[in-house]
Amino acid sequence: MDQSKRLDKREKKLWNCMDRRIDGILITSPENVRYLCGFTGSEGSLLLTRGEGFFFTDGRYTTQARQQVVNVPVVTFKDKYKAIGRTIKKLHIKTLAFEARTVTVAALNDLLKAAPPLETMPCTDNLDMLRALKDTEEIKLLKKAAGIAHTGLQETLTLMRPGMLETEVATELEYRMRRHGAEDLAFQTIVASGHRSALPHGIASQKKIRAGEFVTIDYGCIYQGYCSDETCTVIMGEPAKRQKNVYMAVKQAHDRALQAVRPGKALKAIDAVARRHLEKAGLGKQFTHGTGHCLGLCVHEMPVVSPRSQARAEKGMVFTIEPGAYFPKWGGVRIEDTVVVTAEGCRLITQSPKKLLVVE
Ligand code: ZN
Ligand code: ZN
Repeated sequence: MDQSKRLDKREKKLWNCMDRRIDGILITSPENVRYLCGFTGSEGSLLLTRGEGFFFTDGRYTTQARQQVVNVPVVTFKDKYKAIGRTIKKLHIKTLAFEARTVTVAALNDLLKAAPPLETMPCTDNLDMLRALKDTEEIKLLKKAAGIAHTGLQETLTLMRPGMLETEVATELEYRMRRHGAEDLAFQTIVASGHRSALPHGIASQKKIRAGEFVTIDYGCIYQGYCSDETCTVIMGEPAKRQKNVYMAVKQAHDRALQAVRPGKALKAIDAVARRHLEKAGLGKQFTHGTGHCLGLCVHEMPVVSPRSQARAEKGMVFTIEPGAYFPKWGGVRIEDTVVVTAEGCRLITQSPKKLLVVE
């Protein structure tokens, strides 16, 4: 599929998310701007009607925008909201939808001041599904990002020794992902060892990693805008019996949830498979978060895989399966893979093995 056909298809999807009364949409979040017109810079707004559209940016990005934005004309502004307001008037937009999760109150006030009398409609939940189903090109980029991260981790694991700081491990991993082609990190790298592995979001600290400790590494990079997300929990030296048992319980919860994925399956039912397994293993209270989340241009996208999910799995949906068990002061385990839903079930996007790896 060529780029302009792809963008047409996405724009149709956008209008299908909208109330019929809406005759204009202002897209301002960088991810949706990129998704709908290809622009990758930090200052861009896309104004669309059913049939016309304009892209707004400032002087720093005019050249880049003219190269990247192929489906609508590019307008360079000096005063953003005056320029957008004038165009709203020219296009006779009466009811404008805007992205309520990212437009600040100040920006909305500026827009209302600059635009002709206008009804505005915040869109929140109705945009959640816009990017949920990935096309083959997007899946290719997600796999590429996961492959780069995997290579970075495998190299880093060979360097890990007792006595290393968590930040040293994170730095090695980040450096290697960049060297293999990552354009950025998808999020702050988590390296949490020993008692810190009980923190589901333990950003790498100055703590020394000691023999006998779990090390939870939750890491991800970005390739052409697309994020990877994966967690490996490894053990520094031989595992104790309790460590093995907790690891096995989380691994089985992860495997069973993965096997439960298929089109039409409620996401909360996939969460329940992991949750019930951990409850039976006596670890229900230790599993303190949802089973997963969608990802793509953002590392956390909707819908999520949790007891509160309303959505169902669909072919082309990409999400994580990441059960965990955390004991404050003792430590914890999380095992995370990213999968894409296929016609029959799901396929792994992430590549690192999930058998308990002994690092020595
Ligand atoms: Zn993660
Ligand atoms: Zn995740």
